[in-house]
Amino acid sequence: MAGLTDLTIAEARAQLRARKLSSRELTQAHVDAMARARELNAYITETPEKALTMAEAADKALKAGDGGVLTGIPLAIKDLFCTEGVLTTAASHILDGFKPPYESTVSANLWKAGAVMLGKTNLDEFAMGSSNTTSYYGPVHNPWRRKSSKEGRGDNRPLVPGGSSGGSAAAVAARIAMGATGTDTGGSIRQPAAFCGLVGLKPTYGRCSRWGVVAFASSLDQAGPMTRTVRDAAIMLGSMASHDPKDSTSVPRPVPNYEAALGQSIKGLRFGIPKEYRLDGMAPEIEKLWQQGIAWLKAAGAEPVDISLPHTKHALPAYYIIAPAEASSNLARYDGVRFGLRVPGDSLDGMYENTRAKGFGAEVRRRVLIGTYVLSAGYYDAYYLKAQRVRTLIARDFTEAYKKCDVILTPTAPSAAFAIGEKADDPIAMYLNDVFTVTVNLAGLPGISVPAGLSADGLPLGLQLIGRAFDEETLFRVAEMVEQAANFTATPSLNG
Ligand code: GLN
Repeated sequence: MAGLTDLTIAEARAQLRARKLSSRELTQAHVDAMARARELNAYITETPEKALTMAEAADKALKAGDGGVLTGIPLAIKDLFCTEGVLTTAASHILDGFKPPYESTVSANLWKAGAVMLGKTNLDEFAMGSSNTTSYYGPVHNPWRRKSSKEGRGDNRPLVPGGSSGGSAAAVAARIAMGATGTDTGGSIRQPAAFCGLVGLKPTYGRCSRWGVVAFASSLDQAGPMTRTVRDAAIMLGSMASHDPKDSTSVPRPVPNYEAALGQSIKGLRFGIPKEYRLDGMAPEIEKLWQQGIAWLKAAGAEPVDISLPHTKHALPAYYIIAPAEASSNLARYDGVRFGLRVPGDSLDGMYENTRAKGFGAEVRRRVLIGTYVLSAGYYDAYYLKAQRVRTLIARDFTEAYKKCDVILTPTAPSAAFAIGEKADDPIAMYLNDVFTVTVNLAGLPGISVPAGLSADGLPLGLQLIGRAFDEETLFRVAEMVEQAANFTATPSLNG
């Protein structure tokens, strides 16, 4: 039987406003469910007391008739967002014990809209990864299981939830949060959303403030919502987005009413199918899903157009130069002096070295090494500068494509969720996961993943829609069509 934790944000909001439900009841149901689902390792920090206090304040506001858009809705926050007085780790040992004296703009916006904080979710260390296996706090388990493993055949290892926002994805899929924030530098909202059967949106670069979000690669990072429905994502983004003078890359544009974009016809809309995304050796079920998506949009009156994004093949190499370069520079601040962990040494340099050697995990160290290398005097032109040029070409490909179409349809990821440990020894295989998502970050565009079907082994698969800059409204509108056509009702609990 469906319980309180199965409600969507939109459903709960209606019940809260009609006073058929209190935020206290709704929040308590989530707090109880969180305690029962700890084996997923979705949360690094649970904040049940804070949640219940916020829920009581929400109930008061609702009673007085002056709530905000999210009043009383319990949400989870990726542990990359600074939360005032609440441990913020970035899933790294190096931030041990760090309790920020300030709140990120995005989370502050959510609290202003009345949302209730359940806790901080697990992630890949500093958001570097596609599997949530690089966290200092251990891997997150996907609440979905392979059908064959349940039937006692095949590989029965638990699956990754995707990454880096894997804790947020697992929490929303397992009904231990109604929605969650994620961040996406190369796919970290969309890929875990696809792996866990959720909607995940990476907004246009500049739509959400990065202030108070622990920086990974500043020219690529964007915060966005992860939810169970397209409408819920529209509701959350409306509160998360804002112009923020504290982030000079945040854009001074009014935030549209994204919900108002829903329920509108897509008749006559042109959707592009990029030929370069048809990879050699792509899993047949991914190709089939893509064809299915094309058929759905056609049936809704939209028109497919063949497009070309010729520089796609250079996107992964460019991303894995630019992102580590920016990361190596951003991570220079963790030196044992200002934040978190300090490991003593014989000298100041010794203390820096010991702290960074102990504080960073293997993937973070690998990225710092790559980043420092490509930025060093002898290699800057050959690698970093060239990657930046490729980035410009990729952005131009999209500009050209949008002369012929309004939105682009692709798969979100080249496979369904894989087993924990499956790609652990092969960083390149892991990086290939981002093949359909990184181009969007390099071009600064919005992208959304919508659950669209199940793999042969009963695991969720997602379709991605990519939009024009600041046209999240069209994305929501088309995503809702896909959602309705796919009628994705499977849940991990029914599945398990
Ligand atoms: N998987 C990509 C990486 O490891 C993207 C991560 C992200 O979007 N934060 O860099």
